[in-house]
Amino acid sequence: MIKFKHIRSRIAFTFLTVVVAIQLAGLIPLKYALVKHANTLAEDQIDVGQRVFVSLLQHNTQSLKQATQVLAADFAFREAVATNDAETIESALESYQGRIRAQIAFYISNDENLVVGTSNAKAILKSLDARQAIIQSNAGTLQFDIVDDKPYQLITVPVKAPETIGWIVMGFAVDSQLASQINQLTHLDVTFVQKTNAKDWQLVSSTADKALSNLLLKTVADLYRQRLTLHSVDLNDQTYHLKIRALHETPDEALLVVLQGSVAPFTQDLNMLFKVMLVLTLIGVVIFAVLIWYVSRKTTEPIAELVKDADKIAMGDYETEIQVSSTDEVGYLAKAMNSMREAVLQRSLRIQRLAFNDELTGLSNRLAFNQGVHQAISTHADTQQKLSVIVINIHRFKPINQTLGRDFGDDLLRHVGQVLKQHVLSEQDMVARLDADEFAVLLQHTDQAKATRYADKIQQVFEQPVSVQGQAIDVRTGIGIALYPDHGVDEEALLNHAETALQESRAKKSPWIVYNTALEIDQSETLTLISDLKQAIQHDQLLLYIQPKIDITTRRAVGGEALIRWVHPEKGMIFPDQFIPFAEQTGVISDITNWMLLRACQVLADFQKQGLRLSLAVNLSTRDLNNMQLPAQIAHLLSSHGLEAKALKLEITEGSLMQDPERAELVVKKLAAMGLHLAIDDFGTGYSSLAYLRQLPVQELKIDRSFVMFMDKNSGDASIVKSTIDLAHNLGLMVVAEGIENEYVLNQLARLGCNEGQGYFIGKPMPEKDFSIWLQRWEGQNEIEIDIGDDLSFAINPLEDNQQPSDPFKLDNI
Ligand code: C2E
Ligand code: CA
Ligand code: CA
Repeated sequence: MIKFKHIRSRIAFTFLTVVVAIQLAGLIPLKYALVKHANTLAEDQIDVGQRVFVSLLQHNTQSLKQATQVLAADFAFREAVATNDAETIESALESYQGRIRAQIAFYISNDENLVVGTSNAKAILKSLDARQAIIQSNAGTLQFDIVDDKPYQLITVPVKAPETIGWIVMGFAVDSQLASQINQLTHLDVTFVQKTNAKDWQLVSSTADKALSNLLLKTVADLYRQRLTLHSVDLNDQTYHLKIRALHETPDEALLVVLQGSVAPFTQDLNMLFKVMLVLTLIGVVIFAVLIWYVSRKTTEPIAELVKDADKIAMGDYETEIQVSSTDEVGYLAKAMNSMREAVLQRSLRIQRLAFNDELTGLSNRLAFNQGVHQAISTHADTQQKLSVIVINIHRFKPINQTLGRDFGDDLLRHVGQVLKQHVLSEQDMVARLDADEFAVLLQHTDQAKATRYADKIQQVFEQPVSVQGQAIDVRTGIGIALYPDHGVDEEALLNHAETALQESRAKKSPWIVYNTALEIDQSETLTLISDLKQAIQHDQLLLYIQPKIDITTRRAVGGEALIRWVHPEKGMIFPDQFIPFAEQTGVISDITNWMLLRACQVLADFQKQGLRLSLAVNLSTRDLNNMQLPAQIAHLLSSHGLEAKALKLEITEGSLMQDPERAELVVKKLAAMGLHLAIDDFGTGYSSLAYLRQLPVQELKIDRSFVMFMDKNSGDASIVKSTIDLAHNLGLMVVAEGIENEYVLNQLARLGCNEGQGYFIGKPMPEKDFSIWLQRWEGQNEIEIDIGDDLSFAINPLEDNQQPSDPFKLDNI
């Protein structure tokens, strides 16, 4: 099977093959028929020629016979015969011979006594069996004979007086004259050949040329031997038809006439005709080929176009639309390909979108951001331009999302994304959302001054509460900044360092932090801190600070929360946020808790001695809640210090319950059974539901300070606080608000029915000795106020709700 690269070649080839085959199927039989026809014509010619030859001979015989009969009937001749006048007979014979142009002439008497002949006749007679000849030619027919090695045509006519008294014999030479006479009539070559006993076959005369007639001689001899009379032979590259006729035959002698017709004259025309046909066929094939090529090209052109389009698609070009011009199958195919291409395009665009876009905000995602930074770096590599990578985090996003709903959270994220975008410095800058509440900004051509200006701007914008879904909510952000090439030469380093700076910004509560290597040292220092922490307890570096708590309705102090401080010999005061997390990870937290519980019991025992009925809350961590010995340890501590269980409060977070809920529940239930007061700390930042917490034997809920701190400026926060208080009350829990930083919030909380409060406005965490001072001042102040009037709220808070919070008194924190 032949392989074709194009359909049009296949079509052209197939059709051409069919056409050529059809033409050949016509031409080959035609050629055959033509050859056959030529042969038939040649044979016919020979046939006709032969008949013409025979009748010519008859005609010749007849006229010669008549002429001879005239002599035989001549009176003078007969008289000469009667008188045996040989001289007269001879002269009469001679004159007649001349007249009818016979070569020989003689007279033979019936008794063969008298024989008179022309001069050559005498010689002839010697060899002539005259008698036989006479008898045989009795009918006066033609008689061929070879006389003296020469062939003759003999005519015998009787001389009657009235009986036959003798015979006149006239002889005509079989020569070229006879040959050409026949030739003229028949248009056939005529050749006479003879064989005598003296000589082998020889040519007598021929109208054909010498070379041909010599060739013929051999063939004729062969044919004669085989007794074939009609034959076709190839001589000199030509086909001849031969008709052989014996004119005279004896065992020793033979005279043959050969009529010979060439096929050539007939085939010439036919060949010409065939050639014309062939040329016409060729022209036809060429025209057809061109036509087929053109038509198949026209038909396959759109397909070829489609193939090109398909190639383009294969190369990944989904954008270029396929032009559909025809309405036939090809057009249909093109349309189908177009919709296929469109579908693939849409899908790949979607995949690209999903891969590089954050669906929620429509901003770039982490992957796209990384790429963007990478690209920016590679274009900036030569120039000395700087780049800034800024990471922004929204504080407290999780509780906002939880309490105000996902839709609200989503809108808030979109809003933040918008704000970040609005304040970028140029078109090339990029804003992306990396994580739930984390955004990143890439500022091109931006040095540190410009980057911090941007951070300030963002900070400034979010100082005003954000309005989302008709609710004003306070958005706090932490911002970390890293610069190229100062803080990293690749996207990973830049982003990592920006995040480190962000963590620092959150920890230090600074609006923004620009990365510096000292931040890294801080982190590496963590390791040394861990080993230091282990010794902190033995070396008495830990301190118990107390942050006071009041009853919001009566404003009376109810006790405080015990918070830990670590005074590091070199680093000074370290806050719990910086070591509690890894103390939990390393297990040192159990020692800290034990230390804290012991110290708290000592403080409570002190309070008892002073006659103060105050409680102290201690924070428990995840590990503590998984410690089955804890209830027994606490029971021992309480009894050894002579304390009532209700004096010690325990604060647990939702997260610490989640680690190993079954074990934690067991511990919590034991503690509750002992009569300890349990509080859920940092409520609102975790994920558990109130319904779950209700199953636990807890009495108190502490609303996380992040909701309380700005609830005066921020209706969203206020509504979270309000609904939490309502829900907690419905579940029979008392509510404590922490993070009260001004009086306005305190009043707000009082109106919402919050039970207890804690915060900088009331008192910052303070050493044990400072706490008694605070207590005196606070109680003193509030007692005076309480004495003035009976409207508690008014009496304690002479300020109007909308007035700025006053600074009641300053206490040195440390
Ligand atoms: P916490 O239990 O939520 O403690 C309250 C934190 O809020 C304290 O930070 C306190 O200084 C701060 N705070 C109180 N009122 C205000 C306010 O009005 N405004 C602001 N801005 N902050 C206020 P601190 O002392 O740095 O403690 C941080 C966290 O460390 C605590 O959060 C607690 O989770 C943990 N922690 C402290 N001491 C201990 C301890 O002895 N054991 C355990 N396991 N964790 C502790
Ligand atoms: Ca706490
Ligand atoms: Ca708390």
